[in-house]
Amino acid sequence: MEELQRTHTCGELTAANQGLEVVLMGWVNRWRDHGQLLFVDLRDRDGMTQLVFNAENNADLHRLAKTLRSEFVIAARGQVRVRGKGLENPNLKTGEIEVVAGQLWVLSDAKTTPFPIEDEITTSEELRLKYRYLDLRRPKMQENFRMRHRITMTIRDYMDGQGFWEVETPILTKSTPEGARDYLVPSRLQRGSFYALPQSPQLFKQILMISGFDKYFQIVKCFRDEDLRADRQPEFTQIDIEMSFPSRETLFKMIEGMMSEVFGLNGIKMPRPLPRISFQESMDRYGSDKPDTRFEVFLQDFTEIFKAADASVFREMAETGQTVRGLVAPKTSYSRKTLDDIAAFVKQIGGAGVAWIKLGEEGTTSAPVVKNAGAAAVEAVIKKSGAEKGDTIFLMAGPTEATLNYLGSLRIELARRENWIPAGKWNMLWVVDFPLLEFDTSENRWVSRHHPFTAPVDEDLPLLESHPERIRAKAYDLVLNGTEIGGGSIRIHRSDIQSRIFKVLGFTEPEARDKFGFFLEALEFGTPPHGGIALGLDRMVMILSGQSSIRDVIAFPKTARAVDLMSGSPSPVSDQQLRELGIQIRKN
Ligand code: ASP
Repeated sequence: MEELQRTHTCGELTAANQGLEVVLMGWVNRWRDHGQLLFVDLRDRDGMTQLVFNAENNADLHRLAKTLRSEFVIAARGQVRVRGKGLENPNLKTGEIEVVAGQLWVLSDAKTTPFPIEDEITTSEELRLKYRYLDLRRPKMQENFRMRHRITMTIRDYMDGQGFWEVETPILTKSTPEGARDYLVPSRLQRGSFYALPQSPQLFKQILMISGFDKYFQIVKCFRDEDLRADRQPEFTQIDIEMSFPSRETLFKMIEGMMSEVFGLNGIKMPRPLPRISFQESMDRYGSDKPDTRFEVFLQDFTEIFKAADASVFREMAETGQTVRGLVAPKTSYSRKTLDDIAAFVKQIGGAGVAWIKLGEEGTTSAPVVKNAGAAAVEAVIKKSGAEKGDTIFLMAGPTEATLNYLGSLRIELARRENWIPAGKWNMLWVVDFPLLEFDTSENRWVSRHHPFTAPVDEDLPLLESHPERIRAKAYDLVLNGTEIGGGSIRIHRSDIQSRIFKVLGFTEPEARDKFGFFLEALEFGTPPHGGIALGLDRMVMILSGQSSIRDVIAFPKTARAVDLMSGSPSPVSDQQLRELGIQIRKN
């Protein structure tokens, strides 16, 4: 028998194909039994086509068609017919035509699915993840993956055009420090030793520069064993990039070109060059190092006013080197209840509290907590803030960075409540001039804000040991609508500077040698200046396909507890496997 061959997809036939004999294959999306006539919507990745079975033409065929149920996989041969006037379906790409079936093959039948294969479903995410193969059949999901594919292809073409080589780096590797916990893989051949899954290919890509590869990129899985937040996955995909002899400007230009192509896929035009903001300004104005610049509510500094105010909590804080910052929520006229809710929000994110000054529509002012500071201070705050009738001023005091962060979160929360963020805005920008280090009070030592291979700004270098807090990094983040979509840096390419950084980070010489000896050694054999960046692919696809969860753009994601509900991983392994690895499981 001649092999049955599909001639068209379910998404491509139009009136121009009138009379053509075709073979379609796909899933039974829906069927409607109208007595003599039976209609089947046949679905594949590309769309849906209506098949018609007519009992008058072929009773046996019609009888067979009546046995079809949702999600059966079938093949049908038939003739394309333009639908009668008024019977077209404008919602369907193939809505002008139908295929009058002459032959039918049931390629496989299907059990009743636990949820319908359609876009609007109310099924729990657990069930969707358990039956992920069914979930992925839904047209919207397939659209997400079409977009993901378009994006990765666009990036590959672009990077190739820019002279970058795609190079794979190992998955079984030595721990690389990106600040998260490693996933470990026990070695069978060297008992007691472990590979780490890469948190990123950071050291490998830098070594490729030492090898003279000049321009590297990779669309690569990275693994971080973190407690998962809504937009995190234990394994995720980065567009990882490194180049030799870069200037920050060439690197920015190259990434901006890529972004403009990627976002261009959705008709979104990115300004070039992209705006830039320093870390300091971003913190001071937005209370965040990933500022959402789509709405113009800015943080302000009121510390000086309170230093001169009557004795009050705020004066005490201002005088002891802490800060008092605030923002104006325009035209909010909040009720007491709403203000309590807002205070509860601040507590919930860890803030000590929030004070407010409410400017009533009638010109009255209420400012319960701030009142102690005296009427003059309240007046001065209102004047400086530029607040008007109906506005609310929120104030927070405490250590600078924490206070800015809390206020920044409040800014976003208010934007959400008040709908300050206009739809259809795409604000992408670079955040630059990050501090190199931050003090980790729990570990009682300086830690890298980015990673330990980030170069300090040259003129700050003499202060490295004496004033670590003052050192700026040659690091940059790419931010879109308040989400960090990428980050990178110009690297240290001299082993003496790299060693000094390790020392400031509290590594002893032997510790540094043990962890990164291979890398320090490599740096000694002629290292070109180099730098790079990694962009989060999942988030980018999520944003471009209008989804709110990265799980909707990852084919087989894990839950917040890092479980794959479909395959049931992680799972226990056999005693035999454990024995081979020399591993014993402790019960507690
Ligand atoms: N490896 C870094 C990261 O994953 C990015 C970079 O510095 O290129 O965040």
